[in-house]
Amino acid sequence: MNHKSFERQVSAYVDNELSEREVKSFQAHVEGCAVCQQRVQVLRAIRASIRDAASVVLPESFVYSVQRAVRQQEQEYVIWLGPERFARNVVVALCVIVFALVAVGSYLTPQPVVGEERYFSGESSDSAAHAVIGSQHELSKDDVMIAALTR
Ligand SMILES: [Zn+2]
Repeated sequence: MNHKSFERQVSAYVDNELSEREVKSFQAHVEGCAVCQQRVQVLRAIRASIRDAASVVLPESFVYSVQRAVRQQEQEYVIWLGPERFARNVVVALCVIVFALVAVGSYLTPQPVVGEERYFSGESSDSAAHAVIGSQHELSKDDVMIAALTR
């Protein structure tokens, strides 16, 4: 048998699953093989720590203390619901107030009147365009087109 096949037997050796003859040849190989020696040690350490972890016994009060912690958490959650609802109402009220202020503000702010000054700024107007545009208080798109075409 070579090293590879002994390496595959490490787990069975640690678990005492090898026959007497297999154990003897395995031990004979391990004495001269540092890799297999280390594998046996690592595997034994792992098995030991698993055994230790499994032997942890929970105290009898463990279930009750978990239940108590859960109940306490639920109560804190209920206590927190009150302020949370209040904060939400405050935010909604502030939103309504801001919306109302913006609406009132835009209603009260006078809209800029569209007049002929805007269309004649920077250039001299001829009389026809001036007559069309200047005769009306507010202008539509058609008025501007007519003024441009009759120029
Ligand atoms: Zn080996």
